[in-house]
Amino acid sequence: MRDFFNSTRKDLKSYLSEISESVVHAVSLLKYVYKNAPAKPWETPTLSIKLKKIINNSFYLKPLEIICFQESKLDSTIKFVFNLKDSAQIETVLMPEPHRITLCISSQVGCRQACSFCQTSRMGLVRNLTTGEIINQIYTVKLWLKNNSDWLIKNNYDVNSTVSNIVFMGMGEPLDNVSDVIRSIDIITDGNGFEIAQKRVSVSTAGHVDGLKKLHNAFPRIPIALSLLNPFESERSKFMPINKKWPISEVIKTLIQIQKENNKFVFIQYPMIKDFNDTKKHAIKLSEILEPLNARINIIHYNPINDANFETADSGNIQLFRDILHNAGYMVTVRKSNGQDISAGCGQLIQKKKK
Ligand code: SF4
Repeated sequence: MRDFFNSTRKDLKSYLSEISESVVHAVSLLKYVYKNAPAKPWETPTLSIKLKKIINNSFYLKPLEIICFQESKLDSTIKFVFNLKDSAQIETVLMPEPHRITLCISSQVGCRQACSFCQTSRMGLVRNLTTGEIINQIYTVKLWLKNNSDWLIKNNYDVNSTVSNIVFMGMGEPLDNVSDVIRSIDIITDGNGFEIAQKRVSVSTAGHVDGLKKLHNAFPRIPIALSLLNPFESERSKFMPINKKWPISEVIKTLIQIQKENNKFVFIQYPMIKDFNDTKKHAIKLSEILEPLNARINIIHYNPINDANFETADSGNIQLFRDILHNAGYMVTVRKSNGQDISAGCGQLIQKKKK
């Protein structure tokens, strides 16, 4: 049996051709499943009885098992913990924002990038998620929203509202699993799939140059968020080992190339850590290295994690830092991560390994 969520439109067409059925049914199947969220994809009304039987025997479609659910008292952010078929667990975060509902999804179980400020890195890489597991996070949360209109009403949404924006910022470095991330974006943005515009799907990276190029070739309009952390190569390499392979100068060169073709902003994520990356010297260097880029900077109040000696930078330093960048002509936003009281913020996602 195949996981229905693993199939792009192209995959469904090839499957239908293999069984000598018309490829037009691929569109009906996708449309029906992603718009109506039925329990069984073979209920698609336009299919013949024979094809319904074949689909029934070939595919399964099952939402993920929710094993834990926490809602923030601070901002209504919800953290879901899902159990996968092999009992691996992943986290997905639902964030209410003005005029949109954003879902932060995972691309891997754990992560191999070993960034020292991030809780997920403590797991190491357990495995990549399949396309089906990435897509099913969205499907399951959409179903949950359909059945929990009270959360929508409480957050001032219409009862028919659903997930409108996707960010690949959950567990994992998305570009370490670039082929499944690209296949998922294919389904997310397909007019017969989740039908979410490319500009509403963003991918965050620690600076994976090969993955950036592949993603850009497949989906040139997808916004990129770069987790920068420190503008000095040697300091960055110490806390983000990926910088030894792809120095920040090379990442920026790649992003300049990408921007020549798509003319989009690159979002710079800058978690501010006390006595580490919060000085005037860092702000000036950051403004220099970003100069050739069309960048928007998000300064994030760092979320402390259990086993590291990092602290959130002082508010005064954050303000000074912001002013230096603002005066240099950048658009700068200072923000706190959502769901801090439920450990759903940036860099706080972790699941214990099964013994
Ligand atoms: S910050 Fe991102 S890339 Fe770095 S370890 Fe955490 S999840 Fe992986």
